[in-house]
Amino acid sequence: ASDINASSIATQAITKHYPLCASHLQRNMMDNSHLRFTGRQQLALFLKGIGLSIDEAMKFWSYQFTKNPTSMTIEKFNKEYRYNIRHTYGLEGARTKYQPWNCANIMAQPKPLKGEYHGCPYRDLGTESLIMSLNEMGIHDQHELNQVMEDVDRRDYTVACTRVFELTHKQQLATQKSFEGMHISHPNLYFDRSRQLER
Ligand code: SF4
Repeated sequence: ASDINASSIATQAITKHYPLCASHLQRNMMDNSHLRFTGRQQLALFLKGIGLSIDEAMKFWSYQFTKNPTSMTIEKFNKEYRYNIRHTYGLEGARTKYQPWNCANIMAQPKPLKGEYHGCPYRDLGTESLIMSLNEMGIHDQHELNQVMEDVDRRDYTVACTRVFELTHKQQLATQKSFEGMHISHPNLYFDRSRQLER
């Protein structure tokens, strides 16, 4: 059975494998008990890509959106958001099989406005927030931080993300030559590789 479900995806054991775009989205969604449209699409498709079933997705989203006394009621959730999540799984409307977005798809969306968290954080977060996020991911060394920020300055966002993957998986990579020269161009690839390295 899959270890990906509505409760496990809120734990560090799973989120430590997320690329920054996904952890940024999920954290803000959980903090705010809400997420606006493009962010919902981006995160829901990522979660589908890591193996979250439609039933578990519905549990996760409905719980997160209704968990606070001040957040919406389950009736409102069912009325306004259920369809949207089911649609992502190809269960409504044209029943299209939507694929999780790759980095290029993500960067082709309109940039996030205030209160939105979709997009690529390497492109869309300000320097200060980005450095804070990198620190949270365990990157503290000034030289390493500079290298990532240089990639960002060159607008090589996937290069920055790949470098962060390498810096945060140094030990595992030292023994896994097959990962050499890998380039991250998809958030689900980041997740899958990270999980593979843990095995
Ligand atoms: Fe996500 Fe891709 Fe940006 Fe990495 S480069 S944070 S995987 S959008």
